[in-house]
Amino acid sequence: MKRSEREIKTVRNMIGIYCRGHHGGAVLCEECRALSLYAEQRTRKCHFGEEKPACGQCPIHCYKPQMKVAIGRVMRYAGPKMIYRHPLQALRHLLIAKRPLRAAPPAVKREFKPHEGQSEPRQG
Ligand SMILES: [Zn+2]
Repeated sequence: MKRSEREIKTVRNMIGIYCRGHHGGAVLCEECRALSLYAEQRTRKCHFGEEKPACGQCPIHCYKPQMKVAIGRVMRYAGPKMIYRHPLQALRHLLIAKRPLRAAPPAVKREFKPHEGQSEPRQG
C-alpha cells in the first residue's frame, strides 16, 4: 500500500474514533464524513506526493483554517486511543510525525529563500 493511502486509512480511523466518542453513531455523522473526505482529498493532492511529511510538519499547510482546527481536535482526541485500537497504524503515524522533511517540492523550493544572498557566499 502506498504511504498516502495508508495515511488516509489512519486518518479515517481517527475520525471514526472521534465521531463515536463525540457524536455517538456507529457510522460517521455528516460533519465527520465531510472532514474525512476533505482530509482524503488533501492527502491525495499533497505537493510532496509519497515524500509527504506529517501534516503538522509540512511547510505548506494546505488545510483551510476551519478544517485544520477540526482535524487537530480529532488528532488530539483519537491519537492516544489509536495506540490501543490500531497499534500498528498509530506507531507508523508517530514515526512519520517524527521524521524530518526530506525534500521540498520543486515549485516550493524556489519560493522558500527568505534571505537570498545573505547565506550564499557565491555573491561576493
Ligand atoms: Zn461525527
